[in-house]
Amino acid sequence: MTNLYDLSPRALEETLGAIVSPPFRVKQIEEWMHVRGVDSFDAMSNVPKEVRAALAEQFTLAMPEVVERTEPAPDGSRKYLFRLADGNRIESVFMPMGDRASICLSSQAGCAVGCTFCVTGFFGAGRDLTPAEMLGQLFVIQRELAIPFQSLNVVFMGMGEPLLNFDNLVITLEVMYRNIAPKRITVSTSGIIPGIEALAALPRRPNLAISVNAPDRARREEIMPITTKYPLDELMDVLRRFPLERGRDLTIEYVLLAGYNDSPHDAAMLARVIRGIPAKVNAIPFNPDANLPSWMKRPGDDAIDRFVDALVRSDVRVTVRRSKGRAIAAACGQLRGKTEAKSRASRRASVAPHHSSRQRKLAEGSVDRPIRVQAARVERDGIHAKRR
Ligand code: SAH
Ligand code: SF4
Repeated sequence: MTNLYDLSPRALEETLGAIVSPPFRVKQIEEWMHVRGVDSFDAMSNVPKEVRAALAEQFTLAMPEVVERTEPAPDGSRKYLFRLADGNRIESVFMPMGDRASICLSSQAGCAVGCTFCVTGFFGAGRDLTPAEMLGQLFVIQRELAIPFQSLNVVFMGMGEPLLNFDNLVITLEVMYRNIAPKRITVSTSGIIPGIEALAALPRRPNLAISVNAPDRARREEIMPITTKYPLDELMDVLRRFPLERGRDLTIEYVLLAGYNDSPHDAAMLARVIRGIPAKVNAIPFNPDANLPSWMKRPGDDAIDRFVDALVRSDVRVTVRRSKGRAIAAACGQLRGKTEAKSRASRRASVAPHHSSRQRKLAEGSVDRPIRVQAARVERDGIHAKRR
């Protein structure tokens, strides 16, 4: 049975137009769906019963079902675990931010990209989410927490690689734009070049965040295997050409791994790599998990400060995601991970990558830690770096 939330606004209008009249009735139904986010035809109280019944015979409005919600973290963020119709589980995160809030959505039930620092990557490929499943995460949480759409931002930073589910992503975005402006929506990618180019060609584009995560090609390939296909320098060229609306920037995400990519020298390298790209850096201290390699550690606050200061000295705008709740959001997939860890833990032993000698030394604790330098002030000329 077709889920009407899987249709683009235009396809929905055509589909409904063929069976429902008069035209204003089509408009009413569209509003119940795309503005109110209802999950049953019965909720459409101004639509005649016979019409609702006829629709329910042919179509569904089903949404993912919440199976678990965490208590709010100290910063108010909450994680939702959803079950899909086929039993797959996905996560979304709600994050209050002052008088606004952000909802972090999953785009796939797993991820084939396989970044070695990511729980979703660890569990491997899953299927693409349908538009109904992506929209459902938003509508279910929005309704449950009664948050007006005007104060909501949406980020596709949950499980999966949104640009590897491009067609469904575009339908989802078109429906979302009904309530949420494109500039309030951010799609985060590991750097899938053809996907970025396809995004660039859209008439209405969301914000783009790119997970760069390492300051050189070799290290990036080490922790993000897919980047052998989409190398760093080529990626940066594509970003330099990416069309940006006035007042918008790209976001460069950078997961900080202690002793691996978090030195001031790494920061200076990163600044060189992204030179000429209108972007701010979002530094995300690594969020550890039992399923991830044990050499991977979150840097201490001093090391994070030194990294941030070095970026600021290179004239790069940077924010740090310090709070625990935000870190949890960054590492979406970990809630599901807990319930699935045992069954798949054995698989990991056979696929664990060979660590470089530097990584091995790190694991053994024999790599020199960067020496402590005086932290520079990180607020100047309106350039902002959040500190504890
Ligand atoms: N696949 C997309 C979007 C989902 S991942 C992407 O990779 O961009 C969203 C962000 O979480 C990415 O920037 C990723 O680098 C980061 N991330 C993944 N695992 C993490 C972890 N264990 N700790 C901190 N950040 C993590
Ligand atoms: Fe996939 Fe993003 Fe995780 Fe990499 S970081 S495995 S691209 S979800």
